[in-house]
Amino acid sequence: MAEDLINSFMTGPDENGRFGDFGGRFVSETLMPLILELEKQYEFAKTDDSFWAEMNDLWTHYVGRPSPLYLADRLTEHLGGAKIYMKRDELNHTGAHKINNVLGQIILARRMGKTRIIAETGAGQHGVATATVCAKFGLKCVVYMGAHDVERQKPNVFRMRLLGAEVVPVTSGRGTLKDAMNDALRDWVTNVRDTFYCIGTVAGPHPYPAMVRDFQQIIGKEAKAQMLEREGRLPDTIIAAIGGGSNAMGLFFPFLDDKSVNIIGVEAGGKGVNAKMEHCASLTGGRPGVLHGNRTYLLQDDDGQILEGYSISAGLDYPGIGPEHSWLHEIGRAQYVSITDKEALAAFQLCCEQEGIIPALEPSHALAHVIKIAPDLPKDHIICMNMCGRGDKDIFTVAKHLGFEMAEAD
Ligand SMILES: *Cc1c(COP(=O)(O)O)cnc(C)c1O
Repeated sequence: MAEDLINSFMTGPDENGRFGDFGGRFVSETLMPLILELEKQYEFAKTDDSFWAEMNDLWTHYVGRPSPLYLADRLTEHLGGAKIYMKRDELNHTGAHKINNVLGQIILARRMGKTRIIAETGAGQHGVATATVCAKFGLKCVVYMGAHDVERQKPNVFRMRLLGAEVVPVTSGRGTLKDAMNDALRDWVTNVRDTFYCIGTVAGPHPYPAMVRDFQQIIGKEAKAQMLEREGRLPDTIIAAIGGGSNAMGLFFPFLDDKSVNIIGVEAGGKGVNAKMEHCASLTGGRPGVLHGNRTYLLQDDDGQILEGYSISAGLDYPGIGPEHSWLHEIGRAQYVSITDKEALAAFQLCCEQEGIIPALEPSHALAHVIKIAPDLPKDHIICMNMCGRGDKDIFTVAKHLGFEMAEAD
């Protein structure tokens, strides 16, 4: 058994939180004890059956897992090539995969005796998931959100407030997700005793990238079992959209050791990866550096200044990517591509028309890549894409791009 594991992808990261040259723990001395305590507590919880029993109970009765594995038969026929399956994580409570991870971190926080949860959010999806689970457990919740995003994402700000969370607009830096994460880290250091920092993607210092991945891998575990039941074999290709990379790591991880499975991550190409950084493709258009406590591929200028990036999809515009993806990219185990706003919009519409599913703009990027490759693949080639979020939140953005006038509220 141990011998089998030596070359396994399942064993990473190393004790310093490194995935090859990526990851690690680049944090101040004041943050280090908090990170080490979190790691210790997580390592303990991870092997404790009662921790997973609590997770499973809530996944089933609160989130609605397992999510279905759906054969998109009309889309398959329309494209005329590979057989397309969708992992329906958009059917989760709160409409995306974020809650898989939030539940794990908040159950851990409760075990650690923490009563105050802080989080960063960009588009507001992670903030809403965190506020939701905090309401469920009666925990105080503070969400840091760039001032610019507070203006752009009013419905999610209102949702968080309805759920009892305090939303703190961040004006430092450029007032976006990157700055919100910095402020959350600062809050954590000053409120050590009662506070737990719930990070929304596979980023941050070790152990966050591995811990968030572990909580999200329920997606891939279910997909694998469901595919074996439906088709009697593994998929040939699995595809997911990447912001920070948590839904993708969640789908990919259980398949990493299955050599026959082709793995593709789809970054946001915005207006095109070569145009003045008007994209969020950290792997395709960035280079390695350190941000938020880990070393990974980042969007940066020649002086190493972090750039903001751009995408039609607010949930994809994180200027970095989880360190495990940087490693999978460098060793070639996964392939990373980018999809433009235009391609994602076309995929969004096709999915509505062919399948009666309004997808979020994030998985529309993954779907756009499916649409690109499926027609040229044989009919017995099986693709599984992660439908990681529903599109209700995006209809105003899409309407605007399609030139359709619509008031946000009467
Ligand atoms: C937040 C979000 C993303 C991006 O985050 P990852 O960590 O890359 O998964 C993608 N899709 C949806 C629906 C989201 O809400």
